[in-house]
Amino acid sequence: MFVNAMHVLHDQVVALAHDATELLQRLIRLNTVNPPGNERPAQELLRAELEEAGFECELLGATEERPNLVARLPGHAPGRRLCYLSHVDTVLADASEWSVDPWSGEIKDGHVWGRGALDMKGQVACEVAAACALGRSGWRPARGELLVVVTCDEEAGATYGAQWLCDNVPDKVRCDMVVNEGAGEVIDFEGRRLYTLCVGEKGVFRFKLVTHGRAGHASMPGIGDNALLRMVEVLSRLDGRQPPFDVYPVGVASLEALVDGPVSDVGAAVATALQAEPRLKDYLESMMRVTIAPTMIRASSKENVIPSQCVVRVDCRVPPGLGEDHVRRRVEDLLGAQATSGYTLEFSELIVGNSSPLDSELAGHLRDFVQRTDPGTDLLPLVLTGFTDSHWFRKAFPGCVAYGFFPQRAMSRWDTLPLIHAPDERIALADIELASRFFSELAPAVLG
Ligand SMILES: [Zn+2]
Repeated sequence: MFVNAMHVLHDQVVALAHDATELLQRLIRLNTVNPPGNERPAQELLRAELEEAGFECELLGATEERPNLVARLPGHAPGRRLCYLSHVDTVLADASEWSVDPWSGEIKDGHVWGRGALDMKGQVACEVAAACALGRSGWRPARGELLVVVTCDEEAGATYGAQWLCDNVPDKVRCDMVVNEGAGEVIDFEGRRLYTLCVGEKGVFRFKLVTHGRAGHASMPGIGDNALLRMVEVLSRLDGRQPPFDVYPVGVASLEALVDGPVSDVGAAVATALQAEPRLKDYLESMMRVTIAPTMIRASSKENVIPSQCVVRVDCRVPPGLGEDHVRRRVEDLLGAQATSGYTLEFSELIVGNSSPLDSELAGHLRDFVQRTDPGTDLLPLVLTGFTDSHWFRKAFPGCVAYGFFPQRAMSRWDTLPLIHAPDERIALADIELASRFFSELAPAVLG
């Protein structure tokens, strides 16, 4: 009896993985490089699949070419809403750098290859294939609703995507729990095996640094006052330096989960962790502080004119909960005070990062899944140094618990990280099987 039940489960898992793989291949073949995105054909494909499985679907968006997909499977009674969230746009790909056509969805060496395989058409396919299998099986939530939301425009700021949905049609996407991208790969650390769980994202505080001088003919350099050279001096104060670590609650809790004990000194805890796993260096050090990275520079628009102004654009990421005053202080600690140090600072983006509690009912379900399918493992909560659509849901719906989680173990975090936004992006077939199974088991566990 038990053996038969195991066989049925195994057959279902294999069939589901097959559906998810095929759907992923079809999604990769639809080019959704953003800009321009052009997400409509991909959204129509997903809508057709979900509608056939019993979901009520709507395409909602600011423009005809770039809709978001909102699909719902209502339950037998009112209750909480669980949302499977994903985005269908991708970053660009330079085919000459790839060993396969980035829009082929080719299967080779046990992987599906193509732009978006990891970020994040793989997860789109697993979420949608699992939701469809549940719908077709006749399952309906005992209470509440399963939402599947696939956004456009995540890779270029979410103006048309998640942000648009939460601002313009909040009632359509209001929910209590979200599972989105951001983490889920396994890492081995000090003899423990941990599945990463993204519980928050850093804020984005991009700014402009400006230096001023006086224009003049470049044939007589002394006649002007070169703003570009003034900027060199300002930027040199950033060379190799970053602000000190911040002691903030979710960051400290993440560190405590990693080193498996209380943390009283963040610097010492980071050092201990890096001794055990040096590959965590860039990530952990960025997670625990404001980061400052100049990325673009502009001065004179003519070679023979000494610039009177030089503008540098700086990407700046800030731990959740910390705001403008804190960022200004951190920048001035490195560059000197604006008034006396020869530059001015102007913010172009002020997005305060947010996070969800580490302990929640949803975290319990995720932990249960990894421990059932990979005994002896646990979750490792992390704050993402980048940004995801989860931000907009936490901001719009206070109390909504939003996590990034897409379980992967055939490829570890060290295998996937270098492939995201890079050539030869690919996902393991075994991980498609694991993740699609996860999504097919989560909704009944949460919604009954
Ligand atoms: Zn993504």
